[in-house]
Amino acid sequence: MSDCIFCRIAAGEISAKQLYEDEYVLAFHDINPVAPVHFLVIPKLHVPSMAELGPEHIEVMGRVMTTAARLARENGCGEGFRTIINTGRVGRQEVYHLHVHVLGGPEVLPAML
Ligand code: 5GP
Repeated sequence: MSDCIFCRIAAGEISAKQLYEDEYVLAFHDINPVAPVHFLVIPKLHVPSMAELGPEHIEVMGRVMTTAARLARENGCGEGFRTIINTGRVGRQEVYHLHVHVLGGPEVLPAML
């Protein structure tokens, strides 16, 4: 059994409010949402963080990003949304399975940068 919580969600061992699944990608609501819309999109392949991405991940990350965009449109974020990928200790990453946060409205999000 994997000790990666997102691998365990992908394997169906831990439940999550799933938005989408295919052979390569999984999307589910964040357990602790910080915006009215807050979901995560992950590659099913275990990649610890964005820092480990290489040319072999181009296709799967294209799938992750296009899935994030489509699900944002389908979940009330037609006027925009924020994507965040926290990476490593300095980036305050908590779960070491690469994931894209998608955060959205209906109101304009607080300024971040
Ligand atoms: P990060 O690693 O980018 O800091 O964030 C990890 C995110 O995963 C957090 O927003 C946290 O709420 C979410 N998270 C952690 N454990 C679980 C879980 O078991 N289920 C779900 N749905 N989200 C989780």
